[in-house]
Amino acid sequence: MSHSQDTLLIQTGRNPAAYAGYVNPPLFRGSTILAESYESWEAAKQTGNPYGNYGRFGSPTIRAFEEAIAGLEGGYRCQVFPSGLSACTHTLMGVLGSGDHVLITDNVYGPTRSFADGMLSRLGVDVEYFDPLLGASIASLLRPQTRLVFLESPGSLSFEVCDVPAIAQAVHAAGSLLAIDNSWASPLFFKPFTRGADISIQAATKYILGHSDALLGTVTCNEHAWEALGKRLPLFGETAGPEDVNLALRGLRTLGVRLRQHQENGIALATALGDHPAVVRVLHPALQNDPGHALWKRDFLGASGLFAFVLDSESPQVLSCFFGALRHFGIGLSWGGFESLALPVGRPKRTASAWPHQGTLIRVHAGLEDGEELLADMLGALDSASARITRDRRDAA
Ligand SMILES: *Cc1c(COP(=O)(O)O)cnc(C)c1O
Repeated sequence: MSHSQDTLLIQTGRNPAAYAGYVNPPLFRGSTILAESYESWEAAKQTGNPYGNYGRFGSPTIRAFEEAIAGLEGGYRCQVFPSGLSACTHTLMGVLGSGDHVLITDNVYGPTRSFADGMLSRLGVDVEYFDPLLGASIASLLRPQTRLVFLESPGSLSFEVCDVPAIAQAVHAAGSLLAIDNSWASPLFFKPFTRGADISIQAATKYILGHSDALLGTVTCNEHAWEALGKRLPLFGETAGPEDVNLALRGLRTLGVRLRQHQENGIALATALGDHPAVVRVLHPALQNDPGHALWKRDFLGASGLFAFVLDSESPQVLSCFFGALRHFGIGLSWGGFESLALPVGRPKRTASAWPHQGTLIRVHAGLEDGEELLADMLGALDSASARITRDRRDAA
């Protein structure tokens, strides 16, 4: 990561001169915003919304955060949403209408898939999934009705890396829009707009907030995508709470140092796991032998602390043994907070591509604890699992 990006994280979204010298912008709460005069009330209608000033159209706190994210992602404009899922669903709703076709990557975040299957299909959108490794040959799936292609790279359970520039070229040649869920890398380690995306989504709940204490999402667009979405996204009336946005602005200031430590702890864990006899496969694009490594190296500026591995067993007793031995990894959903997590996934849902691994997929979030203690904890738990696997296989023989 370049020095200038670290400096931007510190300076973006701040204006001490406007707020009596205070380093941080104040937390604005409220609904009604009073105008000084009839003239200024009418003038407010010219600056973005037809109804005049109101809390739902954003406060200085919210605008500071949206400008910061738009700048870090390298996009034109951003809108904040109350959760990452809400950022995904409103992007889909904002672009798609009845009769449209959408292509969604087969490794997409599960609740985004549930929304597409449960809501978009009901509204007359033709939903189709595709193999995340398709690359340029996605062209063969594009139709005149394809309005949007939705990517997630790497997938947040299975870590396949998409060839975003190749996909973008095909998508743009067909006159469609390309959206990407960019939560894994955060806006620091992947610059979606330089790789051809039109829309970038962050589950800000993860690394941006960084402390597992709130939910937020963002949708950032280039100018072309904002022409349509900038008008439609506010129609839903979805607003994020000012306290949560304030926490997100605060989280941004340390995103660079946190992410580099998550990266270091994650790579150390993933590397060591690869040598353990109870592990069939490690899924982490920063590892040299990972199938996504070349694309990751070409397109990303770093890795976050989230990866997965396949344990050589599907036995509940072995899993109980493994999870029961962990001391520093909590069992829980989400990631991006300061604490380490391990999640039993099993087999991810796939409809357009085969899931190639035998065993149990376990997702790991490397937190900010001491790296060697994390490693010892994880290897110890794998040793317990390994001993149990050996015993069970011997007993069965
Ligand atoms: C967590 C997550 C989301 C949803 O974010 P929430 O704030 O939990 O709604 C979306 N996409 C990805 C890749 C995620 O990991």
